[in-house]
Amino acid sequence: MNEEALTQSSKDEFILINIVEDLVKSTVDHAMKEIDMCQCKKCHLNACAIALNSLPTKYVTTTKGTLLAEIGFMNTAFQFEVIVQVSKALKIVKEHPLH
Ligand SMILES: [Zn+2]
Repeated sequence: MNEEALTQSSKDEFILINIVEDLVKSTVDHAMKEIDMCQCKKCHLNACAIALNSLPTKYVTTTKGTLLAEIGFMNTAFQFEVIVQVSKALKIVKEHPLH
């Protein structure tokens, strides 16, 4: 199988994802850089874990190529709730880094 075929098949493959997890990860990624705190992978994931434990899950079946489109369907109120929980999580990790 050549490289192009691999890329094509993985893009069309159906996957089950929690779109809240995706949204939280990218929100943490952006928000962390604005804050004077440890930028390591462990702190990033700890903040994601804390925020995700405070939010409901939202699983969807999708293909890898359409992830961003799915996130676009989330309403503004929910996106605001994600930002609130991510801010709280980053504050906790900043004050008590687990390493
Ligand atoms: Zn760290």
